[in-house]
Formats: sequence, structure tokens, C-alpha cells
Amino acid sequence: MSYRTVIGLEIHVQLMTKTKAFCSCRADVFELPPNTAICPVCTGQPGALPVVNSSMIDYAAKIALALNCEIHEYSRFDRKNYFYPDLPKGYQITQYFYPIATSGYLDIDIDGQTKRVRIRRLHIEEDAGKLVHEGDSITQAQYSLVDMNRCGIPLVEIVTEPDLSSPKEARLFVEKLRTILRYLEVSTGDMEKGALRCDANISVVDELKDIQSNRVEVKNMNSFKFIEKALEYEQQRIIEALKNGQNVEKETRGWDLSSKITISMRGKEEESDYRYFPEPDIPPVIFSKERLEHIKSSLVELPDQKIERFIEFYKIPRYDATVLAMNKEIADFYEACVKQTNKPKEVSNWIMTEMLREMKQLETEQISITPMHISELFSLMDKGEISIKMAKEIFPEIFRTGKMPSQVLEERGMKQISDEKFIEQIVRKAMTQNPKAVEQYKSGKTNIIGYFIGQVMKETKGSANPQLVNDIVKRLLEGST
Ligand SMILES: [Zn+2]
Repeated sequence: MSYRTVIGLEIHVQLMTKTKAFCSCRADVFELPPNTAICPVCTGQPGALPVVNSSMIDYAAKIALALNCEIHEYSRFDRKNYFYPDLPKGYQITQYFYPIATSGYLDIDIDGQTKRVRIRRLHIEEDAGKLVHEGDSITQAQYSLVDMNRCGIPLVEIVTEPDLSSPKEARLFVEKLRTILRYLEVSTGDMEKGALRCDANISVVDELKDIQSNRVEVKNMNSFKFIEKALEYEQQRIIEALKNGQNVEKETRGWDLSSKITISMRGKEEESDYRYFPEPDIPPVIFSKERLEHIKSSLVELPDQKIERFIEFYKIPRYDATVLAMNKEIADFYEACVKQTNKPKEVSNWIMTEMLREMKQLETEQISITPMHISELFSLMDKGEISIKMAKEIFPEIFRTGKMPSQVLEERGMKQISDEKFIEQIVRKAMTQNPKAVEQYKSGKTNIIGYFIGQVMKETKGSANPQLVNDIVKRLLEGST
């Protein structure tokens, strides 16, 4: 490989505090009518003074700890000055000179290999408002409307070092980050709703010629899938340019959903002068050691710790533990099911194949059944009342309707036949009808046993208990010698 890809990410995380960053307006504005969660502070009216939301600082510290960052005792807010219609104050409050945390890392799992991605910095800032373009297109619109509900919503910006070397790694990083945010209960992490936004810087090194392309910034990647798709497209585009000896412009490009390509948004431009200066209305944030210790002690078990515990405690493979721990709800569900069934490996298999497949098909992250459903299903299989094949057959209905397995079986008239006398009858009939097969068995062709099992399954439409059928057929054939 003579081309090496270099990717760094800038991720904005919307914190789910009750109120906004510097005022008491509610912060969960996603479904509110426009301009109904605003006040003089978040719209920058003269004389209005901001007050720091202390939950916001704690949430940011939690994320910083989970990302192994160094949290600074002293941090400060600054003003980033620029004009845009969605920014009524004319500046954004952010942390430029003294961010709350720096130098962390997050380990991600790539095809069984652990890769460490360094975090350069983590800082707190406020969100801007939203422009709603008539007809949804900024270029075609006759006018645009401003919704200021989002102004002042607390965000954490996470900047990685350029340690990612493929679009897939970038996607895996953001997926793992979202898992952690949800474990910490500090953000919904919903990319589709803008609660997690990811921009990427990508460049490619031609290792034979020892040259590196300019860096291209890619925006508008509002799902995990698009992070990977957009960066794959961009990587290919840059490599083609390098091959043809063309210059790769230093620019900002956006992922276009309809054409599945990246489109140039802004050409080569000089670093803007935002005239950053210390926010005069907000005192510095002093994060005491006591407060840090308190937050450390209140941290929940994080995904990596959970994976290690699952491997040790339940003796399941690392792959299983990793899949289960990616979603806290699923991990909790798994543990509750194991408590009831005492079958760690079987339950993990069931969740990873049958249940996750259902969830994927239904495009849901909600688990609509209880551990009772799983334990009843397993006990029906244990008692031989249903085969694993039947369990798999009825599971989608159980998951979709929330009906108990026994109810689904009854409604479908699908109980497994474990009536020995009944099965014996069928076997005997088959033996009388096919004396030749019985002879073959006697002469040592023991695999003819499959023929008799098949006859029983045919008669019972596959609902006879396979183990029992096997035993009975063997017993009767042995008895007939
Ligand atoms: Zn407000």
C-alpha cells in the first residue's frame, strides 16, 4: 500500500442537562415550536447576564474522565466573535485558551485489535440557533427563518489527534464514543437529531513520493453510515488526484445525501479571525480536587470495564462481551436473563443472533420483551417441549408482540410432541411397513435409523421431540433384533 490515510475528528456532543448553558431556559428543545425556549440571556439582550450551569461542568468532566483526559483545575470561557443570522449575540461562548480537559485517549476495537486514539482537547461551548430555509434548500429559498431555541444549549467539543487511518476506524470511534455517552447518561447521542455531530479532517500520504495532500474538512455526516461513506468517497477522490498529479484544494466539503458524494462548500480560505477574548461576564471555572473525586466515585461501569467483567464472570468470548457491552440496555438485559436461566453462553448466543436480528429488522433500539420471556423460552427447550428450531421460529412474534412463548405456542398449536406412546406407535407402523429397512439395520447398517426418524418427523409435521424420537427408534430397532 503506497497510500496512507490520516483522519482527525471534531465531535460536538449535546449535553442533556435540564436547562441551557448560561440561563434557565429548558434544554430539550428538539420537538418544541420555534422560539418558545428563549430568554434575554440566550438571545443576547442588553444587560442580560449569563450564569454557568454547574451540571454542564459536571457532565463535561464525566466525559473527560471516561476519555482518560487530564481535567484542569482552572478553565475559562472565551468569546468567539462572528456574524451569522443564527447567532443573535454576535459571538459564541466557548473555551478557547483554557479548555476544561486535554490529552486523553479512547481505545477502539478494530477486527479484534485494540487501537488507541488520542484526544487532543475537550471543551465546553454553547450551541447556535437554527436557520429554516423556505423549501429546505438554502440556494433556492426566497427567505429563511431563524429558530433560536437551540441558542445556548450546552455542547462539549471533542477534538482527536489525527490518529485514525481509515473511514471505518472513524465510524468505530464515533460509535464507541456514543456508547460511552449513553452509559454516562450525559447525552442522547442521537446523530439524526443533531445531538452528536461529527466533522472530519482527512488527508492522504503518498508514501512512495513522500508527499501529503492538503487537509480537507468534511461536514454533514449525520449518521454512522454516512461517516464511513463520506470519508470513503473523499479518500478515493484525494487518492485519484494524487495519482494524476493534481492539487487537492484545502477546503470544506459537505456530504450530499441525495448524490452520495461530497460537494465543495467553501473554497480555500484564510484562517478566520474570531478575535477570541476572555468572556468578561463569567468568572473562571475552578474545578476542585474534591469535586473531581466526587465525580470519579460516581462514575458508572464503562463499556471496557464491563467487557472484562463479562469475560471473567460469565466466561463468554471477548467478541460476545464486546457486542453485548456496546449497548448498555442490551448488556443489562443480558445479565438479567442470565440471572434467571444460569446459561451465560446460550443467552449470549440468543441475544446476539435472534434478538439483535429482530431489532435490526424493526430498526429499533428498544427491547420490547422482559428477561421472563427469555427464561420461559429456555425452560420450554430444556423440558423438551419445543426444539431450538421451533424457538427460533416463534421468537420474532414474541419480540414483536410481547406475548409469552407459551401463549404463542398455544395460539399456533405448535407444542412439541413428547408423548412416548404416540411416537412409539408411529415408529412401529413404519417398521411393519418397511421390513427391509429393519433388516438393513439388523445387518449393521445403523445409519438407516435416520429413515425412521424422518418418518416420525413427517407424520408429526416436525413437531416431535427429536431427542426422544431418536431414543425410541433406537430402542425399538434394538428390541427387534
Ligand atoms: Zn435562555
